[in-house]
Amino acid sequence: MTKIFDWKENINELELDEISNAIKDGKLVIFPTETVYGIGASIYNDNALKNIFITKGRAQDNPLIIHVSSKEMIKDVVTDISDIENKLIDAFMPGPFTLILNKKKHISNIVSANLDTVGIRMPDSKIARTIIEKSNTPIAAPSANLSTKPSCTNLNDLLEDFNNKVPYIIDEGASKIGVESTVVKVINGIPTILRPGKITPEDIYEVTNSVNIDKNINEVKTGKVESPGMKYKHYAPSSKCLLVYMDNENDMINEINKHITKNTYVIGYKEHQNLINTNNFYSFGSINNYEEISSNIFSLLRKVDRNKPELIIIEGLKKEGLGIAIMNRLIKAASHNYIEKLDK
Ligand code: AMP
Ligand code: MG
Repeated sequence: MTKIFDWKENINELELDEISNAIKDGKLVIFPTETVYGIGASIYNDNALKNIFITKGRAQDNPLIIHVSSKEMIKDVVTDISDIENKLIDAFMPGPFTLILNKKKHISNIVSANLDTVGIRMPDSKIARTIIEKSNTPIAAPSANLSTKPSCTNLNDLLEDFNNKVPYIIDEGASKIGVESTVVKVINGIPTILRPGKITPEDIYEVTNSVNIDKNINEVKTGKVESPGMKYKHYAPSSKCLLVYMDNENDMINEINKHITKNTYVIGYKEHQNLINTNNFYSFGSINNYEEISSNIFSLLRKVDRNKPELIIIEGLKKEGLGIAIMNRLIKAASHNYIEKLDK
């Protein structure tokens, strides 16, 4: 049985005691963050950590991000923080940002998947930080979804993947941001984005005067990669997807209309609802509101997938700002089934 705690209005103190004891006892807890929901366990309990991999069906060489509630807690788990890394921590923590740092020797190899580094994140979510603080331990947590599926951003989606498979789910309603944190590693003194997110390259450049984007972010690679998550199928509905982006809106709409059959569903801009020739149209938001789109995209992919369509066609975004992160998820969701036409 999964116990569901509703903390949308406020954190229930009795339930918080139960949750922090559960974490200390090595149980798994699904908790909200500002990006997506996480499935967490104490970093000091190897069985609990193994259980995260089993429950998600996650590959063992894909490491878990360590969630902390304070800057002091960062120092318990990592070593050799450079000046530039400290600048990034001060600028973006708490927030939707994960920094890869050298782990201390006592940190379990299960968390780091045998790497010498770990990803550190301090969520902005008050609930997440309160649980970590009260449990008095950093919490390792990947996104709460079965491996390869879109991340969960609400209770309904969590129950689809984890009902009766975890003891606790804490419900805070829909996730605010809706895509996972920006993952950054400082390589040769330059902050390098391994996974794009809400914190954009421009945001980072403003703080450090330098930034790189790993050239593999949108690829599926085998062998050695900076971020093991790059190797795996990700964010994908069961149905086949086609992603279409063209700088020219009319061309994009025409292209989409060419691919529509009876059992096709389309996810796209509110403004295009009447221009795309299907009744199976779901809007993910307005053309100028990437925040709205990021908060809706994963739940919509799951919702449309439940109809078992032959094909899901998704309208693409400009790869700018938050659009870089959303397109990264969509290219992977579509397993590179992607039509693109840029003006320049
Ligand atoms: P998720 O499990 O969905 O929260 O994603 C976590 C992401 O962070 C994955 O892409 C991991 O590969 C990446 N990650 C975690 N730890 C490290 C690390 N030490 N080095 C590089 N990437 C990491
Ligand atoms: Mg994930």
